[in-house]
Amino acid sequence: MKVIHLSVECFPVAKVGGLADVVGALPKYLRNLGVDASLIMPFYDRKFTQEQEFDLVAEGTFFQGSNPLTYEVLKEKTDILGFPLYLIRIVNLLDRAEIYCYPDEAEQWIAFQHACLHYLKVNNIQPDIIHCHDHHVGLIPFLTKHSTEFNVFASVKTVFTVHNGQYQGWMNWNKGIILPGFDTWKWGLLDWGGLINPLATAIKCCDAYTTVSEGYLTELYQEANGLQDLFFDERGKSTGIVNGIDVAYWDPAIDRLIPSNYQKETVEEGKYRNKLAITKEYQLDPELPLISYIGRFAAEKGADLLAEIVNLVYDQHDGQVNIFILGSGDELIQEQISQLKSAYQKHLAVYFGYNEQLAHQLYAASDMLLMPSRVEPCGLNQLYALKYGTIPVVRKIGGLKDTVIDLSEDGYGFVFDEVDAREAALALDRAIGACLNKDILKLLRQRAMELDFSWDRSASKYIELYNQLLK
Ligand code: ADP
Repeated sequence: MKVIHLSVECFPVAKVGGLADVVGALPKYLRNLGVDASLIMPFYDRKFTQEQEFDLVAEGTFFQGSNPLTYEVLKEKTDILGFPLYLIRIVNLLDRAEIYCYPDEAEQWIAFQHACLHYLKVNNIQPDIIHCHDHHVGLIPFLTKHSTEFNVFASVKTVFTVHNGQYQGWMNWNKGIILPGFDTWKWGLLDWGGLINPLATAIKCCDAYTTVSEGYLTELYQEANGLQDLFFDERGKSTGIVNGIDVAYWDPAIDRLIPSNYQKETVEEGKYRNKLAITKEYQLDPELPLISYIGRFAAEKGADLLAEIVNLVYDQHDGQVNIFILGSGDELIQEQISQLKSAYQKHLAVYFGYNEQLAHQLYAASDMLLMPSRVEPCGLNQLYALKYGTIPVVRKIGGLKDTVIDLSEDGYGFVFDEVDAREAALALDRAIGACLNKDILKLLRQRAMELDFSWDRSASKYIELYNQLLK
């Protein structure tokens, strides 16, 4: 079975969040189970592409409206990711340093999707399944079925995975003329509320859609940034498949990004050694419990509550606990956190920016990981935390609801219901109490590290879905 994944993020080529982690792992685990899986993504001018070697496997030209665009398809030479990786380069469009936030984003992603299909068609490559990830490639299920240029793919099954339904790729109808030619009377498949909405298009046109947890799927029927009715109407072709974690990269026993490796049997000493290293570097007291937050500063993540939560925690536990915040995003949130830093010099560390190594070090060194999310399609942070024996303190939502069980229910974490700083602080209060009791902490860590969230199980569920579609 030949499955081609399409995505604009993939770790370690280009990562902003969980989408990259999933796309960087799933094809490898599918291949381990016998699927011929590969990935096509845009070329970025970044460390990975500067360091790796590539073969030029194809070149072509197509028209975006009246504008001729020439693309190259570059294949990474060694399959270093564990699967064939193809990058599409278009000078001045798909060759930039950043992934998002360019003013011509619509042109970029339309060109990427157009080039993918053009390359596959011209080179007679017929996959069994095209598996699209998030709205940037949401037009593909429409184009394969309804574009006059690409109807050779009309029988190819398309799977669309919703990693985040908040972002939908809206574009004005004046972009309609730069799409590959399509049967114009089918414009309604592209439209949602007077705009071209690639996420809505994908849900309407794909053969199956998946979400990255079951909890998130049912939430999307209630609230999906305007698309809830669509998700509900199309529920017959939906499946929730929780993400896995790539244990070749996220495992404290072999992680090369942390100062001291450990496993379940040595978790107490191991985590303490990692905590010593990080507290020394950031001038914190190593004898205190350490709570971390790692993630985007966005309302979705509840990051706007962080300042209030930190104040409430220190009201109760001043001088008894350290907090580490690693993240970037909304400037207002960043400003609130900077002010906190000056108020709690000795017990708060802050790193503004993206730092993969520091994230690994924090999962290893922390006692607790806070996730006060408003929306959480799956959440990978809590899965990494559990693998590293770090106790998640999470809001009961989406994938967090599916993967974290509260200690009061014989679980291994702390769960709170509402998006509310007081509720989060109360949950942290319980968690700090547990962490100060060596026996309970040990029990929680053992339970956490016994869990298995590796990709094998989730990858088999995708294979089941592919097989159903191909029957
Ligand atoms: P989302 O994709 O919504 O941001 P996920 O929980 O699915 O959230 O994935 C987040 C991923 O991004 C995790 O691998 C996490 O460790 C990583 N991450 C988020 N912010 C940072 C940061 N500032 N530095 C390093 N890694 C980060």
